[in-house]
Amino acid sequence: MEIVQKYNLSKQIFLQFPWLNESSTILFEDLEIAEEKLGSISLIDIVQTLFKEYPVLLDRIKQFFRNIIQSKEEFSTPTGDIIHLAMYPILQIIVSLSGNRILGNALTNTYAKHCQFELSKYNAKKDFPNKILQNIFSNLGISCTVDEHIYKNGIKYPFQMDLPSYLKVSTKIRNESWKLINRFFEDGKIYLIRHDVVLLLREFVRQKTLPDYKLINKELSSQMEKIPEIIDLLDEISKMMASHKKRFESSIFSEGETIGSELFPPCIKAILYRVMHGENLSHNERLGVAFFYLNTNHSIEETVDIFRTSPDFDENIARYQTEFAAGSGGKGKKYSMYNCVKLKSFHLCKDDDPNFGDKLCRDGAKKRSGEIVPIQNPAKDFIFWKKVELNRHLRSQIVEQLESSDETEKIKKKEEDSK
Ligand code: SF4
Repeated sequence: MEIVQKYNLSKQIFLQFPWLNESSTILFEDLEIAEEKLGSISLIDIVQTLFKEYPVLLDRIKQFFRNIIQSKEEFSTPTGDIIHLAMYPILQIIVSLSGNRILGNALTNTYAKHCQFELSKYNAKKDFPNKILQNIFSNLGISCTVDEHIYKNGIKYPFQMDLPSYLKVSTKIRNESWKLINRFFEDGKIYLIRHDVVLLLREFVRQKTLPDYKLINKELSSQMEKIPEIIDLLDEISKMMASHKKRFESSIFSEGETIGSELFPPCIKAILYRVMHGENLSHNERLGVAFFYLNTNHSIEETVDIFRTSPDFDENIARYQTEFAAGSGGKGKKYSMYNCVKLKSFHLCKDDDPNFGDKLCRDGAKKRSGEIVPIQNPAKDFIFWKKVELNRHLRSQIVEQLESSDETEKIKKKEEDSK
């Protein structure tokens, strides 16, 4: 098989990892669709063919959605076979059609975790030499070479990645340890151990499997929605989502709303926006938003609810951490909200952000005397000054209305006098 030779990867690897480039070639071979015919077949025909040729496909896809909607980001159906490969394009299409970011993120998490899990299995069996990891990266257009004899400061670094490749796979990772400054970097190469490379691959898979929400235009979407299996899937998914309302409908924002409560500061709005769109939060973001909620008279229930849309939500863990932060467990100490200096040091301050930024945070609050007061705490100063700002705005609107009604009266009186 050509691609197996081209990338020096077994057919089994392509069946296991459908996100590899050209893995669809194996699918088309199985369907006996010649490469030269591909250009003349529409996406609709391909989808119909997949459901016709693989009758079990529909049930496997339903099971996949059942899992992710219940926050089980794993495959509970077989992987590494042709059906697993056939599922991938259909899952992408369904999530694009649904336009639901929470489903999309759950999908990427599932493939990313599956990749790491499979690689660890191969590693345990010791039949997955480092060269195969190199070949997987090569298939993805990332240069990662293997030299088992390289040691730096007494540590063995069998993998070497060039700078553009490293930046491509690592830029979306928030953890400080992936910053270039914290890596062994020499002669334009980053030296890595196997564990690092597996994690980088996992994160790259997360990016690679993210559905393209613009893939399906209106016309294609209406054609897709005529395919009986697609109608069945979309129906079933919306029913499943309806029975998990809390996860799919944030109690703070309605779907599509980008700006939350008028009294929330930019840093908190940005975190809530991310969690509402199904993204996993960093440790500091979780604590920041939980402390903010608990210090602004929200209940433990309301605080736990924030995290329900998070792909890695676990009720027990979220509840335990929230109760701990609220002082109901552990040492019984209620934690204060982080101040702005601390949030800035975590890179969580969004004072100048194009979507969430606020003049109050950027320029400070203006007292009646003209003195400028900087915002120092999101749960205290920001809320106080925001209320002042809103009251001032409201008062000026009332004054404007009174003045204009006053003017109207004067005009009316003049008109009457001149009669
Ligand atoms: S200035 Fe403070 S309240 Fe405003 S966005 Fe930054 S951290 Fe949040």
